[in-house]
Amino acid sequence: MLTINTERLLRLLDNLAEIGATAAGGVSRPALSEADMKARAWLKEQAEFYGLNYREDSAGNLSVILPAEDANAKTLLVGSHLDTVPNGGRYDGALGVLAAFEALLTLKEAYRKLPYHLECISFTDEEGTLVGLLGSSALCGTLTAEDLTAPRGGRERLLAGLKRANLTEEGLLNAHRDPATLAAFLELHIEQGTRLEEANIDIGVVTSIVGIRSYWIEYLGDAAHAGTTPMDKRADAFWGAAAFTQQARDMVMERFYPGVINIGAVELAPGAFNIVPARARLALEFRHGSETELNAMWAELQSLARDIAQVYNLSVQITHSGSIPAAPLNDGVIAAIEHAADTLGLSHTRLMSFAGHDTQNLSRITPAAMLFVPSVGGISHNPREYTRARDVVNGANVVLHTLLKLAQA
Ligand SMILES: [Zn+2]
Repeated sequence: MLTINTERLLRLLDNLAEIGATAAGGVSRPALSEADMKARAWLKEQAEFYGLNYREDSAGNLSVILPAEDANAKTLLVGSHLDTVPNGGRYDGALGVLAAFEALLTLKEAYRKLPYHLECISFTDEEGTLVGLLGSSALCGTLTAEDLTAPRGGRERLLAGLKRANLTEEGLLNAHRDPATLAAFLELHIEQGTRLEEANIDIGVVTSIVGIRSYWIEYLGDAAHAGTTPMDKRADAFWGAAAFTQQARDMVMERFYPGVINIGAVELAPGAFNIVPARARLALEFRHGSETELNAMWAELQSLARDIAQVYNLSVQITHSGSIPAAPLNDGVIAAIEHAADTLGLSHTRLMSFAGHDTQNLSRITPAAMLFVPSVGGISHNPREYTRARDVVNGANVVLHTLLKLAQA
């Protein structure tokens, strides 16, 4: 059975981890930083060394290419990202790019020609030091000029990065690729959680990437003297907010598993020891892999918010703050991953991704899916991020055999 070159893959991972290495044993390679530019140059050198071509699109997405015999064949994209969060780890993103690269080398050396051009791709700024999922949004044609005017990393940093990489905003907005030329997309990533480790399972097959909805929930009551106002005469906005927080948690745990909910900020006004709060504002966010479930969660959360307002003699105002739709992944690619894991004798389970990934963008334009390998202790975005060598190798072999399976389809 064809398998990847274990020693080479582990060496490539070690070599890449030296670029932007931190004293704590992690990696700092923020998008379009000097370190990121070095990592890109390094991958190009590796491609040249092993006799593969590469190309960079106008969003800075870097691809190493193993062409099909037929020049008009579609392209099967496989990859992840070379950038990291500041003071991040060695595996997040890097694993997916290098496993894809190693799979291409293995196929090349085995003289295996597939009916697709294979492209090992590293997307620009997955992590959001600048914009977040920047390169994949550009490639998928969903990036807008507004996304670039007030980026989360600041406008100055974005412009400095673009300049360093010889990229332009115009180029970013024109990097969109014709979906008709694409066959599929596949991404290998570390889990960044403990589900696989706890269940002692080799491979997680991602069925969907969760959608995220954010709202402000604002309870309004009456400011009053915190000593002289009898308890049963108060309209305490925080009582409503606290009851909502607790009951929303119970409701989501009981009825919407594996969905999650978070109240990430609480603001009280006027805000003093001796004043009953007139206003309590909650930053509510919830996630699920199914839009149907997200809709049901939202319907229940709204009626809960209103019921609680009545109980505590308050009014409630709800304001939408943002939504990212859930991204269900492709059944055909999911089946190919599972087939590959079976071929290799690896255990696997289906799960949702609760973190965002470039795959969610690609899934909107081409059949896409992703797989996870275990993260020790679930630690990620941290210098102590670690995935065992055997899991690194398992993941890369599943990538290789998924490509082979997709080639038969
Ligand atoms: Zn990542």
